[in-house]
Amino acid sequence: RVRTRVAPSPTGLLHLGTARTALYCWAYARHFGGDFILRIEDTDEARSTQAAVDQIIEAMRWLELDYDEGPFFQMQRMARYREVIAQLLSSGHAYFCYSSPAELDAMREAQRARGENPRYDGTWRPEPCKTLPPVPAGVAPVVRFRTPTEGSVAWTDLVKGEIRFASETLDDLIIARPVSAQALADAGAQPDVAALIGTPTYNFCVVVDDWDMGITHVIRGDDHVNNTPRQIHIFNALGAPLPQFGHLPMILGQDGSKLSKRHGAVGVNQYEALGYLPEAMLNYLARLGWSHGDEELFSREQLVQWFDGSHLSSSAAQWDPAKLAWVNAHWIKQASDARLAQLVRAHWPLEARQGAPVLDDATLQRACALFKDRSSTTQELALTLRQVLGEVDTADATWQAAWAQHKGADAAPALLALADALQALPQWQPEAIQQALKATLQAHSLKMPQLAIPLRLLAFGRPQTPSVDQMLSLLDQKIALDRLRTVKN
Ligand code: GLU
Repeated sequence: RVRTRVAPSPTGLLHLGTARTALYCWAYARHFGGDFILRIEDTDEARSTQAAVDQIIEAMRWLELDYDEGPFFQMQRMARYREVIAQLLSSGHAYFCYSSPAELDAMREAQRARGENPRYDGTWRPEPCKTLPPVPAGVAPVVRFRTPTEGSVAWTDLVKGEIRFASETLDDLIIARPVSAQALADAGAQPDVAALIGTPTYNFCVVVDDWDMGITHVIRGDDHVNNTPRQIHIFNALGAPLPQFGHLPMILGQDGSKLSKRHGAVGVNQYEALGYLPEAMLNYLARLGWSHGDEELFSREQLVQWFDGSHLSSSAAQWDPAKLAWVNAHWIKQASDARLAQLVRAHWPLEARQGAPVLDDATLQRACALFKDRSSTTQELALTLRQVLGEVDTADATWQAAWAQHKGADAAPALLALADALQALPQWQPEAIQQALKATLQAHSLKMPQLAIPLRLLAFGRPQTPSVDQMLSLLDQKIALDRLRTVKN
């Protein structure tokens, strides 16, 4: 059974890169009918926050990346990691190292001077027939993993193909940090092994987690490629089955550097606030680093159906805001008017600089229907609706310039007559409005644009909108008439 996981660190918003990883892990598990697990890697205590955990969970909920197990928290699993370290110490796969920071510095200095790559020299590494130095008093040791020195580590990466590291290039990794001076003193003269095991390190915790959680496919960013050979050695020492690994290339900004805050919004939650739909984010993120023929627009269900781990791109993907906007515009068109109306309302408190129009739900839904095919984000939709339906500022210089250009010679009497005709309408709806318009045009011998363009400017503040009858019916009847009657001869 396929089991995948995503393992974000709660040090900020869920980054777009991590969201894409989550999406691939989720889709892979769903495609094969397996399990998807959320693990929070919160061992960096200084930088991890509960707010970030909440935002990650909220972003997963928004994208509808449902997980079957979790969230698990590494900080809650410390006892388990220490237990496994104790096992490795007793099986000889790990050892205590008492080299002090000063000794390690001197060692590396000497290696560099000889033109070698700095690495741990193995002073405390047990070997057959080797006598270890006497344990120094008052020093808390680290635990190092006894990395095999022979041969190489290789795996067939799901994304990058065969990857191989020579074992000799890998250091004896530190898997537990020293305990505190206080803990060392408390441990006494003949300390227990367990009392000397400090905080486990990142690469080690990941292996124990993936093993305990039965992960079959580790799909993650390729910034972890160098960790993988070390982790494979640890899996092997534990006698744990190896998962398959897939390393996804980075997402780059338009300038070719790694996508970061400098490039704009990089947190998934920010895109929700900016007016992107989750199905658009999912569609765009999925396509960024994976393809299915020429398909650019696809649903969650299609993604799950197609996503079998093939056609993952091994070269870096470039973040393309224009394409994301295009994908979003497509999904906005597909979205129901009721859903859009709700999203528009949610944007209004933020957007309401000159007061959002007061509309009932049914009217707002009709307004969304009229404008949804010309908006890239729901924020843009909200802004447009606020502009066209909110108050018209006839003192504004841009408006006055447009008015001077479009008012025409003969529109004013016709507009006033239209206002009277509209006032007499028993029903305030598009067909009736359309009839009043036509009658007025005939009576004044005008063509539609001669009346409709100045009307739009008066009622909606701009010369172009969807059909006037539909548009007028969105306004309160009295407000519409008042706006038309501001026309001056
Ligand atoms: N916490 C790691 C990250 O945020 C994930 C590592 C992994 O997937 O193994 O990049």
